[in-house]
Amino acid sequence: MQEQNIRFSQFHISHPIPGENDIQNVFESFIAEYKNFRNNVPVGCITDKCSSKQQERIDLSVFCGAGGYLYLYLRIYEFVSSLSPELQQQCTQGLTDQELSEFYNPETFLQMALQQYQAIQASIKADDNISFFMSNSAISLLGADMFFYMKDKENFKRCVTEVLNQFGDIVAQPKKYEQELLYGVPGYLYSLLWLHKKYSNEKDQFQLDLSSHIHTICQVILKFVGNGVMKCQFSNRQYYGAAHGILGVYFHLKDEQGLLQMLESIQVTLDHLIKIYYQNGNIPSSAQNEKNLRLFQFCHGIPGAFAPILKAYQIFNKQDYLDAAIHMSETLFKYGMIKKGYGLCHGIPGNSYGFMQLYRLTGSEKLRQYAFQFLQYKKNPHVYNEIKNFPFKDRFNIGISDNPFSLMMGSIGDMCAMMDFINYKRMPGYEI
Ligand SMILES: [Zn+2]
Repeated sequence: MQEQNIRFSQFHISHPIPGENDIQNVFESFIAEYKNFRNNVPVGCITDKCSSKQQERIDLSVFCGAGGYLYLYLRIYEFVSSLSPELQQQCTQGLTDQELSEFYNPETFLQMALQQYQAIQASIKADDNISFFMSNSAISLLGADMFFYMKDKENFKRCVTEVLNQFGDIVAQPKKYEQELLYGVPGYLYSLLWLHKKYSNEKDQFQLDLSSHIHTICQVILKFVGNGVMKCQFSNRQYYGAAHGILGVYFHLKDEQGLLQMLESIQVTLDHLIKIYYQNGNIPSSAQNEKNLRLFQFCHGIPGAFAPILKAYQIFNKQDYLDAAIHMSETLFKYGMIKKGYGLCHGIPGNSYGFMQLYRLTGSEKLRQYAFQFLQYKKNPHVYNEIKNFPFKDRFNIGISDNPFSLMMGSIGDMCAMMDFINYKRMPGYEI
């Protein structure tokens, strides 16, 4: 059945691109994407910069709008601030001498971030969204990071307060919200975990302790996903994948180890999904559609399962989890070079994260090469020609993402994955 699926391509297996100088080559691809981004998206842009047949509109979300631009500037700031001198020496391709000194000055990106943040602030309106991917509070979360880097305590505090302002309403009226990562309470939990992880060990006015907030939000989520095999309802279906489904939910629940009953449910759920995988070769999108095994992308299928499974392996020390992830990596290598192409949500760079996450744990050079092949997909004509001509019915233009410069559907996602290949930080919107 999988052989008939037109959404994946196996051309990369018979026609891999040369694997030497991988860091230099990935950096060169990163710079090409970055320059193309800068030519098309001015600093301070607040529209979604969509492909030509869509109507461009103001979109401040991190998922496919201007929040993603802010996210990018801060990620590059982190990248250039933390790159070792040895790696810096390897990462020069594609830049002139002058561009090089600008690029390796972190202040460049902090100023772009500030300009982007101010432009977004000028048109932000109160909204009902709560998740990192979709809500305005994600702008406050990114603002907190930015003001922390600028050592601006007052604005840092204001941004943190803006994120926490939603807490009371979520606890008081949890039924108002979905229980999934993309739109719902787990997407808010992600923001809390981010702040807690980053600032619980800071000093003085930058110090935060959100452990009781996190505990409360986990209890809210647990009430809805239940005991035993946990279920995540969204649009009248029980989804399995990372963006809408249980994988995204319980990956974040796992950061709250105080709830014992929850740890049990997590294992039961994970064992259930792994069993489905071994029986079928993939994790289907939902319990209502167990025959649909075609989707190999972060939002549906095994790509979003790597991070939770590997985290479970670290917590429970169960070899079965590591074995399952290794088995899945071979499946993903075969079917994950999908013809939809771009971005993180349902794209090839999103799928590269599974290899990178497993590589970090095992150190297997083969996995690094798998990630390299996926990140260089535009340089592989056998793959890229397929992508450029793939008539994906949900798209406005053949071969172009609807939001070509966005975090989850476009080139910002590609750039983040490339930076993570060189110096791993986290999968955007998923890992902390
Ligand atoms: Zn998707």
